[in-house]
Amino acid sequence: MNEDYYDLLGVPRDATTDQIKKAYQKAARTLHPDVNPDPDAAEKYKKVSQAYETLKNPDKRRQYDMGGGPGMGGGFPGGGGAGFDFSDIFDMFAGASGMRGRGQGPVPRQRRGGDILRRTTIDLRDVVFGTEQKVTFRTAVLCEACHGSCCAEGTSPTRCSACNGTGHVQRVVQSLLGQMVTMAPCTACEGHGDIIESKCPSCAGHGRVQSEKTLTVKIPSGVENGTRIQLRGEGEIGEAGGPAGDLFVELAVQEHEIYTRDGEDLVAHVSVPMTSAALGATVPLETFDGVQELQIRPGSQPGEEITLKGLGVTPLRRERRGDIRVEIDVEVPTGLTDEQKDLLEQFSALRGEETPRTGGRRHGGVFDKIRDRFRDL
Ligand SMILES: [Zn+2]
Ligand SMILES: [Zn+2]
Repeated sequence: MNEDYYDLLGVPRDATTDQIKKAYQKAARTLHPDVNPDPDAAEKYKKVSQAYETLKNPDKRRQYDMGGGPGMGGGFPGGGGAGFDFSDIFDMFAGASGMRGRGQGPVPRQRRGGDILRRTTIDLRDVVFGTEQKVTFRTAVLCEACHGSCCAEGTSPTRCSACNGTGHVQRVVQSLLGQMVTMAPCTACEGHGDIIESKCPSCAGHGRVQSEKTLTVKIPSGVENGTRIQLRGEGEIGEAGGPAGDLFVELAVQEHEIYTRDGEDLVAHVSVPMTSAALGATVPLETFDGVQELQIRPGSQPGEEITLKGLGVTPLRRERRGDIRVEIDVEVPTGLTDEQKDLLEQFSALRGEETPRTGGRRHGGVFDKIRDRFRDL
């Protein structure tokens, strides 16, 4: 009885919501009662729907993954129906019902609402830890006055007399081959089969009105610049109270002054004086987990990397964080005083290093000549 939801849909446990939706639609195409009259198929369809209902919702899916069995969350949506998203089925049969509209029955007024795209900016800290952000946008919402019926209060649509409520009319065309009868949408009712005589004044007969909406969007850690978060059913509501479209929130990640992202890692550059690189030092480094002490080991070379484990980005759908990688730049001193030069020369001599151009060419060297020339100007 308690079949595994993932097995029912035939998807791996780490399947994306999109894969789950595709698997569900594929199953529904052969099992849906509209296409398969077999009672076994109907039973299977119920189970598949229940599995889909749970797995497509991240919260319910997490609960299920943690051991919440089938049946928690209200069971088959046909019973309670709370939260069941008919638009998935609507999408799937949109092609078929469109054809039906042209062929036989009237065309329903209800249509799926449009999707909405909003952009929002987050910073690197949000990428590291995830965040929540309020998004405000204008969209079409259900008309409170008529609740999507499109009719003025106390009225209802009247049957179209031109097409007798069928939404289409027969047209007889004379052609070279003889008389041809074609079906055409009724122009009097625009194919709806009924006419709204007194339109709802609040929405001018559309069943929806423009309004401002604010949503709190959960942004998981590990998102990329350009990632789009899909919020099902938070887009425009459809004409005449049709199913709502989706809201897509596109993320722009602001550049950070210290860190750039490299996959799960954060990369920074730290400049240390030549002496610190040689002698070793402790450098304070600001991270998203507070100031950390960066240990520069004695004898550090330019380009050497220091890793701070586990202070990077938490990738999407995973727990373990990446690292911070700090590349060491070594500053070679410039503008030395005579005393500093002497010390460095002593140091160099102590090391027994070759010093090809110091000493003898201190005066009269190329650079001194140039400098002298500038002084003359
Ligand atoms: Zn209205
Ligand atoms: Zn008509």
